[in-house]
Amino acid sequence: MLKGIGASQGYGIGRAVVIKDCNLDYKYVKYAGPEEEKAKLHRAVDAFVEETKALAQNLKQNAGDKEAEILEGHLVMLQDPFMLAQMEESIDNGMTAEAGVDTVCSMFIDMFSGVDDELTRQRASDIRDIKDSLLRILLGVKTVDIASVPKNSVLIAKDFTPSMTSQINRENVSAIITEVGGVTSHSAILARAMGIPAVLSVVGVTERICDGDTLIADGFKGKVFTSPSQSELEEYSQKQQAYLKEKESLNEYFGKPTVTKNGTVKKVYGNIGKAEDAQNVVQNGGEGIGLFRTEFLFMDREHQPTEDEQLEAYSTVAKAMDNKEVIIRTLDIGGDKAIDYLCIEREENPFLGYRAIRYCLDNKELYKTQLRAILRAAQYGNIKIMLPLVTTVEEVKQAKALIKECCQELEDEGLRYREVPVGVMIETPSAALISDLLAKEAAFFSIGTNDLTGYTMAVDRGNAKVSYLYDVTQPAVLRAIEMTIKNAKAAGIPVGMCGEAAADERLIPKLLEWGLDEFSVSPSSILQTRKNICLND
Ligand code: PEP
Ligand code: MG
Repeated sequence: MLKGIGASQGYGIGRAVVIKDCNLDYKYVKYAGPEEEKAKLHRAVDAFVEETKALAQNLKQNAGDKEAEILEGHLVMLQDPFMLAQMEESIDNGMTAEAGVDTVCSMFIDMFSGVDDELTRQRASDIRDIKDSLLRILLGVKTVDIASVPKNSVLIAKDFTPSMTSQINRENVSAIITEVGGVTSHSAILARAMGIPAVLSVVGVTERICDGDTLIADGFKGKVFTSPSQSELEEYSQKQQAYLKEKESLNEYFGKPTVTKNGTVKKVYGNIGKAEDAQNVVQNGGEGIGLFRTEFLFMDREHQPTEDEQLEAYSTVAKAMDNKEVIIRTLDIGGDKAIDYLCIEREENPFLGYRAIRYCLDNKELYKTQLRAILRAAQYGNIKIMLPLVTTVEEVKQAKALIKECCQELEDEGLRYREVPVGVMIETPSAALISDLLAKEAAFFSIGTNDLTGYTMAVDRGNAKVSYLYDVTQPAVLRAIEMTIKNAKAAGIPVGMCGEAAADERLIPKLLEWGLDEFSVSPSSILQTRKNICLND
């Protein structure tokens, strides 16, 4: 049995599909002479063309023409005689086919990525894709097509990027296991959003498990059973049935208002990481979106999303929620959320460093692009803006001034937009301690217990050695929460919670007693949280 962290509830039983990082190192490949290397190159190009055509066809049927066009563009680029001629010339000069592909593609990548124009920079990332595919084919490295794994697959990877998770078909994947990440890592957040059981931080799991192994993943206790016995398989399949039955029984809370035993009306919202997750919130009976983590839009790509791309994502969510509240948190990067193309320098203490609102207020153009997109999307629904990692009143004032500036620009440009309420996330001890002052500037509060717990207890959220201190029920954290709720109430502004603690059954009686208005949880926890609230005073 392997031990990890239970990061998304449920039991998964199935066969392992191990997704290994591609090793595209070709230094050991020996030069076989110009003719053989060129023949190898052409075979690889033919295979690439065939593979890409099939993929494009598949995408046309399942995703849409736009995605397929990108792949068809790859074919045009590679078939450019100049590019191929350069590769052949490198081979004539004594390089292997692999080295020729790498050298020529890298030269184009450098050339395109230094250019200001967005479309040209996009070509650099296209060529990077072509290079990786050609090297993979030349080196015979196999990759896993995540979208088409068979039913009852248990996916295993070092970590899951947002683009990997977006390919997951929930019907076929019974669990996710990773080597890194904790309860609040993006793999965990995405797994919970999709309702897939997950065990994270299992040391060496990609090496210790082989493709096809039968596995049991316990997303509650963070256990992975390798080679399970017949009795273990029976025991867990019973547990799985019982859990699914209990989940089904929660359907009686679908579409019901969230009202406590003494008649106070509350709200249960969902947390999302990408636009498509809004559907999960609707399907699970969420009354709104309490946290849209917009950094996922910025991750796993070569350059920042444009204003129009962001507008598309935010307005999709606003429309899907049909005038229900949608709280969009502005970019929260830095700390454990790195984005390479933003080139943030490495820091000794990234969690205490240049991140979230600090970074955004110092990079106004990038921030304004996001704010403008949110303001424009607001015309399609009930959007609010939320500021992350606030520690001073000044930060809120500065952000609000920037939002005003964006409104004026949109007005001048004749673009439609709507002014929106601006709220503050309370996720630092400093924000909790000055919550009375912040309440004068904020339209609402949302308590981010994931960070608040870490910062209050002075403990790293992802460090296993001190994880015993990462505990939201510690009196210091509870006091910070209570103080925030009381100060919000005194100022007459609504207060919610969007950290994991909002779904913590142990805390719900206290949160209700203090008067928390809104609980924002993973889509898969919405009905359970509503039930817990309805059964309390
Ligand atoms: C939090 O800190 O509680 C929170 C919701 O934000 P994140 O987990 O994205 O840091
Ligand atoms: Mg946070």
